[in-house]
Amino acid sequence: MTAALRADLEQALGAEHVAAEDAREWRVSPGAAAEVAEVVRIAGRHGAAIIPVGSASRAPRLRGVDRSRVMVSTRRLDQVIHLDETSLLCHVQAGLTGLGLEKVLTPRGLSIGDYPPSLLGSTLGGLVAVRTPGKSSARHGFFEDAVLGLSAVLADGRTVHTRAAPRRATGPDLARALCGSEGTLGLITSVVLRIHRRPEARFLAAFVLPGVDAAVAATYLALREEAATAGLRVLDAAEAAHWYGAAVCGDGEAVVVAATAGPTDLAACDRDLITSAVRAEGGRDADLALAETWWKRRHSAEPWPGPPPSFQLTATPARLCGAYHAVRGAVTAAGAAARVHLSRFDATGAVLFVTFVDPEAGPVATAPVLTGAREAAVRDAALTAARAAGGYLFGGRARELDPYLQALRAALDPDGLMNPGALVG
Ligand SMILES: Cc1cc2nc3c(=O)[nH]c(=O)nc-3n(C[C@H](O)[C@H](O)[C@H](O)COP(=O)(O)OP(=O)(O)OC[C@H]3O[C@@H](n4cnc5c(N)ncnc54)[C@H](O)[C@@H]3O)c2cc1C
Repeated sequence: MTAALRADLEQALGAEHVAAEDAREWRVSPGAAAEVAEVVRIAGRHGAAIIPVGSASRAPRLRGVDRSRVMVSTRRLDQVIHLDETSLLCHVQAGLTGLGLEKVLTPRGLSIGDYPPSLLGSTLGGLVAVRTPGKSSARHGFFEDAVLGLSAVLADGRTVHTRAAPRRATGPDLARALCGSEGTLGLITSVVLRIHRRPEARFLAAFVLPGVDAAVAATYLALREEAATAGLRVLDAAEAAHWYGAAVCGDGEAVVVAATAGPTDLAACDRDLITSAVRAEGGRDADLALAETWWKRRHSAEPWPGPPPSFQLTATPARLCGAYHAVRGAVTAAGAAARVHLSRFDATGAVLFVTFVDPEAGPVATAPVLTGAREAAVRDAALTAARAAGGYLFGGRARELDPYLQALRAALDPDGLMNPGALVG
């Protein structure tokens, strides 16, 4: 059975594009959407699972998958199919990375948009398939909002093409179901993305506010007035001291760093909206170098200090401050301390990046990060408190909707071949 599967795959793609990973797993690299469809049909005939692989930033979910597996790499699907500079639309194959697309767009004065640079290493298919909740920009929205159409191969080998047409002529948007389905409903072979002109101007600004509550209030005051930031970060005093290597604000105060971008007048107007919101909440200007350092680190021109945050939470705008204080309270009660920054603000909420440290080992800004069992216990306490305050674990999903997802999966893929270990449990 497995030898026959391999033979069929080699016949469809050529032996050089089929590699045995182990006795029951093959990695294949189709070079065209039609080859993807053929691979899916072959896998279906042999009852093998189909696991899409983008830039493999995440290990495949294989728990409970007790059958042969065909790992379908999209790395050869890396072409821009069509670039429409009038409509600012780009039809691109799913295996191209964000970085690869930016390389094509930059010389033409175009860009994917103001998304976190960590997006750029991922494939566009992987980004859409995971619908990474963090990948958002206040100016350009969530990454999946840029997806105006896509093509995907379903479990039976059929290809669905959703239409990139004016909104008045599209009907139900089936692409939405595929965004975030992690390859369980179909393997995405290409996407039509809305792209943007590169900004004419970029402004940075830095402020000190009386505390995190005031900083969050100022941020949402500006967002409600439709300021569109290219990036904005709130740091509590300990996090700011950690980042900048010195106390840059008083205990209990907070730092805000912000960037705006676009046509010069609009970018200046967005910056002014943020400045007046900060003033309304009792804030003052801070050294612009704070924002310049943040921007350089964000764009990898300088390393971030220290290890990544211990955990990440998200909450709606109204619950952010409650979640922040609940986490801090729980961490203190557990005998630890935390430094926190908040980022990725938009109308639906923001993300809290929390780092747990050992307060007995020095000032919170420089104390060593907790690890092992102690870190796990503090994390549990913090998560429980955050949930009680209306926060959510970042990247979680609404499990009460799972029965509907399972029904959709069963209808499209009755044999359970498409990424069967994903989006379960
Ligand atoms: C809930 C969640 C939240 C995340 N949030 C963030 C974040 O905020 N920031 C961040 O940098 N990263 C985040 N990640 C990591 C995320 O996996 C990557 O950022 C990126 O989206 C994956 O791109 P990739 O090319 O590496 O895909 P891979 O890691 O190779 O694949 C990711 C998943 O998508 C499937 N997949 C890949 N390509 C396709 C395709 N063409 N068609 C269908 N399915 C496909 C894979 O089978 C796998 O299940 C998050 C991951 C998850 C699960």
